[in-house]
Amino acid sequence: MKKEEKKSRIGIMGGTFDPIHYGHLVAAEGARHHFNLEKVVFVPAARPPHKGARVITGPVHRLNMAVLATGSNPNFEVSDIEIKRRGPSYTIDTLYYFHHSRPGSDLYFITGADAVLEILTWHRVQELLDLCSFIAATRPGYRLENLAETLKGLPPGSIEKISVMEVPALAISSTDIRERVRRGMPVKYLLPEEVENYIYEKGLYRE
Ligand code: ATP
Ligand code: MG
Repeated sequence: MKKEEKKSRIGIMGGTFDPIHYGHLVAAEGARHHFNLEKVVFVPAARPPHKGARVITGPVHRLNMAVLATGSNPNFEVSDIEIKRRGPSYTIDTLYYFHHSRPGSDLYFITGADAVLEILTWHRVQELLDLCSFIAATRPGYRLENLAETLKGLPPGSIEKISVMEVPALAISSTDIRERVRRGMPVKYLLPEEVENYIYEKGLYRE
């Protein structure tokens, strides 16, 4: 009998990461452990299609902060694929990239419960579900009932590819951190110290 080769399992965490914070890191580490992932790759978006009018911090700063935040975890990586691609990034393009560049790997897209809702109502959802599984991390303020409602409308066979994962609820958001920096309020313990120092050094979020 042919011995089954063990497939590698790779987590992909997309986001604006403006800035990256402990909510992102806790979700990624929880997914890595729970789903036995070899590694988690953080993929900062060049210009997320859904962020509308808000001015987003330059991609290089967001990439640098992601590198600083993940440096102490040997199972975390950062990819500049979306930033190099330029123009708006779609999750599906990124998943095709990993699908082709790491053939034979099982891909797990890690998101917060808010973001998975947005993605699952997207028009190419079947294609997405063929490419990867989804891990939705609980996040304060997002109702899982809404997710259950969305799942009901998905094509048969999709539900098995979507898991909801409980992580310690961290009511941290990049929006709140940006606002705190702007108002001179503390952000200590909301994000890694290296990232905090980087924000002050480069004068980010002060305007
Ligand atoms: P913003 O406030 O600018 O939208 P954010 O904190 O939501 O920023 P994003 O870069 O938008 O961060 O999020 C990237 C991914 O991380 C998304 O899938 C999002 O749902 C998830 N995420 C962000 N914060 C948390 C958190 N505190 N707990 C769990 N998941 C989170
Ligand atoms: Mg967000």
